[in-house]
Amino acid sequence: MNSIEFGGIGMTSQRTRERLIERLKEQGITNQRVMDVMRVTPRHLFLDEALSHRAYEDTALPIGHGQTLSQPYVVALMTEILLSLGPRQKVLEIGTGSGYQTAILAQLVGQVYSVERIKPLLDKARERLRKLGLRNVRLSHSDGGFGFPDNAPYDAILSAAAPHEVPEELLHQLAPNGVLVIPVGPGDEQELRVITREGDSSNFEERVAEQVRFVPLLNGVTR
Ligand code: SAH
Repeated sequence: MNSIEFGGIGMTSQRTRERLIERLKEQGITNQRVMDVMRVTPRHLFLDEALSHRAYEDTALPIGHGQTLSQPYVVALMTEILLSLGPRQKVLEIGTGSGYQTAILAQLVGQVYSVERIKPLLDKARERLRKLGLRNVRLSHSDGGFGFPDNAPYDAILSAAAPHEVPEELLHQLAPNGVLVIPVGPGDEQELRVITREGDSSNFEERVAEQVRFVPLLNGVTR
């Protein structure tokens, strides 16, 4: 696990961040560790400068290439669910994007593997995570629709992009009692599904946490 400490001015100040945390609480987020980590993580560093003044609004924001930085509430929700069944050592994230969710996870779990299909996004995320000194993260330019078999199994897998159906490969890469948190569905709005492997069996328990909006999981990689 890792921690970071970074200041900020004006719209990126500690007071602005505090307001965001208050909003997360109002929306039902209860995990104190998740909120503590989100309080100290500078979301503005994950955006282009022209947008950084909006970094602490509870909204998704564009990061280029038609992709978005996830809404803070959704980041908090997915992270809280992922941690709800106890500590997680090894976590796979699909869709690094800006690297913001990656940075949150890196401060709460042992080791994060994160895959992204768009090379320029991955390169920028790598630079940001390096600057923040988060060293328990491995990034890879690959298609997460197949998971990331190299380092499987994972205690948890979190997808920031929505497939039409849950890819079987992801279930096969869960460790005993592992959890997969993934938006699923073909439309603009999807079901956030929480799928838990029962012990070391090949039975899975599934529930829908909430309706969410994610970008689609796409095939292949781009340079
Ligand atoms: N949590 C990120 C969300 C980025 S949006 C953030 O807050 O910045 C989702 C990301 O998933 C996009 O960057 C998109 O390029 C990526 N993505 C979509 N399909 C993918 C796939 N098959 N493999 C890897 N990444 C994928």
